[in-house]
Amino acid sequence: MAKTRPGKRDLESYTIRGTNKVVRGFGSFGDSVLMRSAENEKAPYVARVESIEADVKGNVKVRVRWYYRPEESMGGRRQFHGIKELFLSDHYDVQSAHTIEDKCIVHTFKNYTKLEDVGPEDYFCRFEYKAATGGFTPDRVAVYCKCEMPYNPDDLMVQCEACKDWYHPGCLNMTIEQAKQLDSFMCYECSSIDGKRPHNKSSASGLANGKVENKRQKR
Ligand SMILES: [Zn+2]
Ligand SMILES: [Zn+2]
Repeated sequence: MAKTRPGKRDLESYTIRGTNKVVRGFGSFGDSVLMRSAENEKAPYVARVESIEADVKGNVKVRVRWYYRPEESMGGRRQFHGIKELFLSDHYDVQSAHTIEDKCIVHTFKNYTKLEDVGPEDYFCRFEYKAATGGFTPDRVAVYCKCEMPYNPDDLMVQCEACKDWYHPGCLNMTIEQAKQLDSFMCYECSSIDGKRPHNKSSASGLANGKVENKRQKR
């Protein structure tokens, strides 16, 4: 019964056509949904429903905040981006509720990495994205391995027992199968210097050491 603007009604929820799935718009706690893209063959758009309203004729509109896929961002998809990774953009829009195809779940990065099974409805988000500038928040993340890359949850990594850093099998000249068979692992630096010398990565990275240290954050 809430009346905000003449002729328009705020709705608490919307039931996706042909389903019994109920979508709620509730600001930053709103449901995440998949929306049909204009070009049909493209993957559906993903959005968070901020609010829902109906006009006098009963047409239901949703105010959404778009999630961008890595390939839709200015910098494009990078090696550390997960297959199910999304960026929460600052791009808002109003769309017909009819374009909603299904609900989905956008997990925090931490919760996503704890999922036992990743279903088609599961996504994750660790960055906010400014559509106008291509900027990310946070603009620094922890990096791992000799290759100094942020963690891609789709990639298998092995952890060194001594320094606790994580490594890609490929960066250790190891196959995934070999890595899976390891009972324990110690990286080359730790095993060759009895773990006492501070970690030295100068041989592994083309980056200047200072720069590498700046990128690395405490976990
Ligand atoms: Zn690596
Ligand atoms: Zn180590």
